[in-house]
Amino acid sequence: MQLRAASAALLSAGALVLGPALAAPAQASTIEPAGDGSCLTAGTSARGHSGRAADTRPISAAEQSRIARETSARLAARGLSRSAAATVGGTVPVYVHVMAGANGEGNVTASQISRQITVLNTDFAGGESTAAANTGFTFTLAGTDRFFNNTWHQDRQSTTYRAQTRKGGANALNIWIVDFADLGIATFPWDYASNPSIDGIRVDFASLPGGSATNFNRGKTATHEAGHWFGLYHTFQGGCTRVNDEVSDTAAQSSPTSGCPIGRDSCSLPGLDPIRNYMDYSFDTCYRMFTAGQSARMSQMFAAYRG
Ligand SMILES: [Zn+2]
Repeated sequence: MQLRAASAALLSAGALVLGPALAAPAQASTIEPAGDGSCLTAGTSARGHSGRAADTRPISAAEQSRIARETSARLAARGLSRSAAATVGGTVPVYVHVMAGANGEGNVTASQISRQITVLNTDFAGGESTAAANTGFTFTLAGTDRFFNNTWHQDRQSTTYRAQTRKGGANALNIWIVDFADLGIATFPWDYASNPSIDGIRVDFASLPGGSATNFNRGKTATHEAGHWFGLYHTFQGGCTRVNDEVSDTAAQSSPTSGCPIGRDSCSLPGLDPIRNYMDYSFDTCYRMFTAGQSARMSQMFAAYRG
């Protein structure tokens, strides 16, 4: 049996990672067999870990301002006010690309893919909390293809494989299911025009519902990455600043959350940290919601860049 993420995950001390540095490194890992025949680094998975790239390209405060101006200009060019654009919603076709290994590792089942689509629909409909927003976006599986290629499976030559396999237009969510030390990676909507062939999200196969990623196997990685794909920043973007993630109803937080620390309050600005928000780094079981402000921003971004 081939150990999944044998090199990268072990070298990064066993963390399944997705983001920038956290203060506390993960513990040394143990390897346990998982029920589905794969193996995983167990017990200490985290969305964030030192030494790994973030799950989106970094956006500086200056670029954040530039993007905000461009978004306003694009909406104006379409004759849409910000408030009118805040409720567009829509149906998003989803193309799933299973990048399995030559030996079949990571060849997730059709049932897992179906459950992943259900998770997206539940989460974007606000189905996990009475405080959650219904974003108005729904997802339909438009196609699944499967490749058995160790290079692609391990997310190498990703620019090439994405360009060769991506389907649909700007409004189509492409999900590549791979094996890497990260839980997920996403592109932003404002980058579509200049780089359409790589647009979409990549998630680790162990993060799908029923997968083997401890604390991260309920499909919420795809929800988080799709949030970026719709134009959301992390809730900790900008740290303890008022601009923060440009969403007024997600309280500022100084750094990513790990686990589910109820009552965490990392900034002196008003509000507790939004640890249950899909755009933090909490455990899958901790996640509950997008806010109304995030819902509005996603619709505005969709209208500006993906409509
Ligand atoms: Zn992220």
